[in-house]
Amino acid sequence: MGILEVKNVNKRFGGLQALSNVNLSVAENTVHAIIGPNGAGKSTLLNVLVGKLIPDTGSVMFDGQSVLGRAPYEINQMGISRVFQTPEIFGDLTVMENMMIPCFAKRDGAFELNALTTVGRQSDIVDRAEQMLIDMKMIDKRHMHAASMSRGDKRRLEIGMCLSQQPRLLLLDEPTAGMARADTNNTIDLLKQIKAERDITIAIIEHDMHVVFSLAERITVLAQGTPLVEDTPDKIKGHPKVREAYLGE
Ligand code: ADP
Ligand code: MG
Repeated sequence: MGILEVKNVNKRFGGLQALSNVNLSVAENTVHAIIGPNGAGKSTLLNVLVGKLIPDTGSVMFDGQSVLGRAPYEINQMGISRVFQTPEIFGDLTVMENMMIPCFAKRDGAFELNALTTVGRQSDIVDRAEQMLIDMKMIDKRHMHAASMSRGDKRRLEIGMCLSQQPRLLLLDEPTAGMARADTNNTIDLLKQIKAERDITIAIIEHDMHVVFSLAERITVLAQGTPLVEDTPDKIKGHPKVREAYLGE
């Protein structure tokens, strides 16, 4: 049994079958990549996993508990945290202020932005946020405006904000989209570091094959809403069906 078990999930948008009998098992403490051409249903699947979309049929179990019908914040509290395709940070706030938000939310369940001044005086929150910035190698940037950072650093901050909630499953939707090569490589190194230092499972949707083959232990190929194959990176590389459906050969 994987920490995440998706069984026979179907999702239709009007006349379009976006997900068709999707089965997926993600083993605990692995990095599992989901790849596939544009429109394959990758983001739809991710939205089902985090409670943003409810599938028409099927089941989604996380650590033996169903996530279906739960609100996104409840699924987050179960231990699933998600990194968006475009970094979701507060550009007008500093790096440290950004990091304090999830640290506070984890403790008290909700957060009002105007509470930030009060939160700044709560030493446990400050300590946790600082520690996470140290872990993320961002402590020297703590006073920077988040908006003024590079794409790679914004992504680094956002991943740190997710980790401060101590998730057991981290979901990433194309975390290196739109990044320069150097930022992409930094993100790969960061994810490797996170994986080495923590008990965490990572499921990553990714277009960039360099990223996929640098990180993934298992790969599921999705095409037209259905898993085509699931295997190790070595097997996926040489798989004729994959070459045909995904690499266009
Ligand atoms: P991917 O992330 O693999 O590129 P998506 O999951 O975003 O694919 O989309 C799968 C298919 O579902 C696409 O054809 C897309 O246009 C369609 N789709 C996605 N979200 C919606 C929606 N909310 N309403 C209608 N169609 C959608
Ligand atoms: Mg997508």
